[in-house]
Amino acid sequence: MKIKRYGIMGGTFDPIHFGHLVAAEEARAVLGLEYVFFVPSGRPPHKKERPITKAEHRYLMTVLATATNPSFKVSRVDITRPGYSYTVDTISAFREMLGPDCELYFITGADAILQILSWKDVDRLFASCYLIAATRPGYDLSQLRASFGASWQRYSDKIKTLEVPALAISSSEIRRRVAAGEPIRYLLPESVVQYIYKHGLYGAHRQVKGCI
Ligand code: ATP
Ligand code: MG
Repeated sequence: MKIKRYGIMGGTFDPIHFGHLVAAEEARAVLGLEYVFFVPSGRPPHKKERPITKAEHRYLMTVLATATNPSFKVSRVDITRPGYSYTVDTISAFREMLGPDCELYFITGADAILQILSWKDVDRLFASCYLIAATRPGYDLSQLRASFGASWQRYSDKIKTLEVPALAISSSEIRRRVAAGEPIRYLLPESVVQYIYKHGLYGAHRQVKGCI
């Protein structure tokens, strides 16, 4: 029997954008994933320096963005678990839910993976899932290897890289554009654009330059 594979895409999703969606879809197609679960984080441990938009808004934007893809699901596990959101705890929750007989693939940007050695319980994390590092086409893999140093041998079997084309988009750039009254259309799904303006997120009270 073929072992089922599931993708898990964790993130702040403040807001979700086409970079996230393209990476998830590419991972689904290349790895033959049954589903990709998008998991908006509750309190991200690495983003303490700026206020994060309410979890309910981030969750709803993620639902809107993924609604048309039958292979995408959104999970509330990190939002409902108290305390900081650590990847190792997210993976344990999915392992419990999906059982021992499947493979889990945690999808993340190569930039985030560079700091992985500082994540909580790295050994336990690598024991329970694979890591998919989304990279820009032409990305220099030696950077990834160098960041692991001597630990590369230990973990390299569990790390796969995946080239995705939409990597220049980031949530921080979208927030900056909204606050500056610059357009954000075509960087993220239209439903999410409308949600941002409807709820006045990221200082979206000003009129977008060039729009009627
Ligand atoms: P911010 O700019 O606030 O850091 P972000 O765009 O990086 O936001 P996150 O919610 O922090 O979005 O990212 C969730 C996951 O998606 C992370 O693993 C991140 O590396 C990855 N990611 C972010 N942007 C892209 C992109 N354009 N293509 C592929 N993966 C991405
Ligand atoms: Mg980021």
